[in-house]
Amino acid sequence: MIYYRGGSKELRITILGAGSILPTKERFSSGILLESGELGKVLLDIGPGTLEKLREMGVDPGEIKRVFVTHLHVDHVLDLLALIKIKAYLPERRLAIYGPRGISEWLNLLTTDDKLFGYLSRMGCKDYLDVHECWETSTTIENGIKLSTTPVEHFNGIAYRLDFLGGISLTYSGDTVPDDRLIDLARGSRILIHECSLPSDKMRGKHTSDEDLVEIVRELQPEILIVVHLYPEMEKRVDVLREKLRSAFAGKIYIPRDLTTIEV
Ligand SMILES: [Zn+2]
Repeated sequence: MIYYRGGSKELRITILGAGSILPTKERFSSGILLESGELGKVLLDIGPGTLEKLREMGVDPGEIKRVFVTHLHVDHVLDLLALIKIKAYLPERRLAIYGPRGISEWLNLLTTDDKLFGYLSRMGCKDYLDVHECWETSTTIENGIKLSTTPVEHFNGIAYRLDFLGGISLTYSGDTVPDDRLIDLARGSRILIHECSLPSDKMRGKHTSDEDLVEIVRELQPEILIVVHLYPEMEKRVDVLREKLRSAFAGKIYIPRDLTTIEV
């Protein structure tokens, strides 16, 4: 366990999945568990393997009351249907799902079409799902926690920022290319969880490279940087990445493998 304390409130961040759709020994698809007294237990993304990682952590999926989805790619969302079905068996079933534009239609199709998973509607999921579409959103969700989102350049992606009353602020990029809208969202955020998919010489898709991330943190200067969404090619160069990042800012750098907990 990595331990860090600052500020008056406590937030526990567990990186359940720090990798990409390509599983490696240390990293698999996206999923982050946040735990705090104010927010309870919530997930940022819920890719394949997320529920299994929760099981390993001893977290009952029934305790998850909110899921924040960045975009509807398989490696960020596949376990959501499993969580929806699990909730059907529980006495307290309510599940709030936040996601980008289009997530309501996507969920509606998946849970009502009998060629897909239409039986979920017959199990009552419509009654307990509370779906919130976000885009350029700024709202207060609970205990004064401010939720802000911005669209980013990656499929239908959005990035999230949470500001807690105690002064902790956290921004999660999801998948994205370097995007000024994300820089604006993350400015002043104490914690930055940012993707770094591939080295710049191996870049493919709409992602952030090691060189890009160095420039982003040079601009933002977060207190804590947590680097996620590493493809195998990036994972092989973690030590070089850490050195490059070290030269750009003075904050703490975490490049965690799966099931790493960071306490703030
Ligand atoms: Zn993606």
